[in-house]
Amino acid sequence: MILVTGGAGFIGSNFVLDWLKANDEPVLNLDALTYAGNLQNLAALRDDARHIFVHGNIADSVLVTQLLAEHKPRAVINFAAESHVDRSIKGPEDFIQTNIVGCFRLLEAVRNYWLEQSADEKATFRFLHVSTDEVYGTLTADEPAFAEDHQYEPNSPYSASKAASDHLVRAYFHTYDLPTLTTNCSNNYGPYHFPEKLIPLVICNALDGKSLPIYGDGQQVRDWLYVSDHCSAIRQVLDIGRPGETYNVGGNSEKTNLDVVQALCAMLDELRPQSAGTPYANQITYVKDRPGHDRRYAIDSSKIQKELDWVPKESFESGIRKTVQWYLNNQDWVEAVTRGTYRNWVAKQYGGT
Ligand code: NAD
Repeated sequence: MILVTGGAGFIGSNFVLDWLKANDEPVLNLDALTYAGNLQNLAALRDDARHIFVHGNIADSVLVTQLLAEHKPRAVINFAAESHVDRSIKGPEDFIQTNIVGCFRLLEAVRNYWLEQSADEKATFRFLHVSTDEVYGTLTADEPAFAEDHQYEPNSPYSASKAASDHLVRAYFHTYDLPTLTTNCSNNYGPYHFPEKLIPLVICNALDGKSLPIYGDGQQVRDWLYVSDHCSAIRQVLDIGRPGETYNVGGNSEKTNLDVVQALCAMLDELRPQSAGTPYANQITYVKDRPGHDRRYAIDSSKIQKELDWVPKESFESGIRKTVQWYLNNQDWVEAVTRGTYRNWVAKQYGGT
């Protein structure tokens, strides 16, 4: 059994689905079902006894302690977080509560559980913390990509809160010997991505005939990682990563935001042309830049590639094709997420969130 937190979110749900496709080890999934958590992502597992869903908060020490004692997981993978930079600028409080306080309480509960294990169990137990390249700050066009020893220079409340959680995870290894691992990855994209983030937002707005907003000059550079490649990296780190280490995970796909939006428009022109033949790129609109917007993130994944023999399978082009195709085939999901239907469904199942 493994305990996954935040397993109803974008990356967490992809991870749970991939995990149970690849092996039979059960997953205990603890998720607070914030606006970003969506049990419809896991609808395929509704009758699958290998998936146990618990509606709850990582900051709830009593609940986490009880779950650990009852289910005795051999590993914990922490995806649970507030994850949207724009929301962190408007209201940082939730980010501090979940990403820092929540991570701390989870670590404490896990440490106490781990201390009760046998020597063998202690040695093989793992706490894997999923984090972001945004903790490293920003790069100029000429600087080398972020390696694991790059200094932390977070610039948004989101990245600052993730940086704090990374430091706590590191401290629990060095101070208490808890076998922790941290992954810092670049921007993920793929199925089940909440449509407030750039790629799903552009696909959904394009199909709805709405404007495609680009911050500032659109020349901010990000590396893009297809979500199933991220999931395979996490599995590899969990299996053979060295406790106490950090692994950077990237998709070898540095693109400007404008390049990304244009690639999406071109893919939509091919897969779902507009009746009048109007290119979707005509809907691009430049909007005021985000405050403190980092100019460039780039990830050096050579450590995980060399040490753990991991490489991303998808190119940006193949990943974008799969993603656009998924959104075209899953308009019901988009509609439910944007109209709040799934939240009503959750309220019925779990007494409201
Ligand atoms: P997401 O916002 O889609 O999902 C987060 C999930 O965590 C949701 O299901 C939410 O309900 C749950 N959650 C939030 N607060 C919780 C709490 N207090 N207790 C329990 N559950 C809680 O996020 P995501 O994009 O899937 O990201 C997952 C992790 O990966 C995060 O830690 C994020 O920082 C990190 N990350 C994401 C990206 C990306 O591109 N999406 C890139 C780098 C790192």
